[in-house]
Amino acid sequence: MDDNTKSFLQYIFEIVESVERRAQTPNISCANCGITYAEFKKSGKLGCQNCYTAFRTPISQALKSIHGTNVYKGKIPQGQADKYKDMIIKRELTENRVLLKKAVEAEEFEQAAKYRDIINDLQEKINAGQSTQPSEQR
Ligand SMILES: [Zn+2]
Repeated sequence: MDDNTKSFLQYIFEIVESVERRAQTPNISCANCGITYAEFKKSGKLGCQNCYTAFRTPISQALKSIHGTNVYKGKIPQGQADKYKDMIIKRELTENRVLLKKAVEAEEFEQAAKYRDIINDLQEKINAGQSTQPSEQR
C-alpha cells in the first residue's frame, strides 16, 4: 500500500463520516477479515480486498455526496479536492467497468445498461474536470 492509497482511504473515511452524520449507517463488518465499519473509520484502512465490497454502500453514499455537492470545499484546498475527486471517479470508473463486464457475462443487460450509463456519466465528469473551466453553473 503506497501513500496515495492511504490518503485516498483517509479521504474516503472523512467523507463517509460526514455522510454518516446525515444518515445513520448500521454497523457493517467484513465477512472475510472481520474488520467492522467502525474500525475501518478509525484506522482509515481496509483489512482486506473484500472490505471494499463489504463497506460499499456507505462508501458509495459518500462518493455520491462528493459528486453532487462541494461539501469539502472548506476543508481541502480546491486543487487537492479536485485531485482526489479525480482519483475517486477513476476508481469508480474501474469498478463499474468490472461490474458492466460481469453483468454482460451474466446476460443481465438491464444492469449492464445501468452501469454503462454510470460509466458514461463518470467519463463526462473526468472530461469536465480536465477542461480549464473553473466553475460549472447550472
Ligand atoms: Zn475485509
